[in-house]
Amino acid sequence: MNKIYNLNDKVIMKKPHACKTNEWLITRIGVDIKIKCLNCGREIMMDRLEFEKKLKKVLGDTK
Ligand SMILES: [Zn+2]
Repeated sequence: MNKIYNLNDKVIMKKPHACKTNEWLITRIGVDIKIKCLNCGREIMMDRLEFEKKLKKVLGDTK
């Protein structure tokens, strides 16, 4: 499956955050990807390969 994602897209990961929410916002795309939990605001960073492995669904830009 080809997953296309962009900055400011909302995404669903395979595993929810510790706060039980599973909606994240992509806040940075570079060598690493930074995503922000939409419930608690915690940001986590991971490399692209890891991100794509953990990514379940791209909801897109919902602004
Ligand atoms: Zn959270």
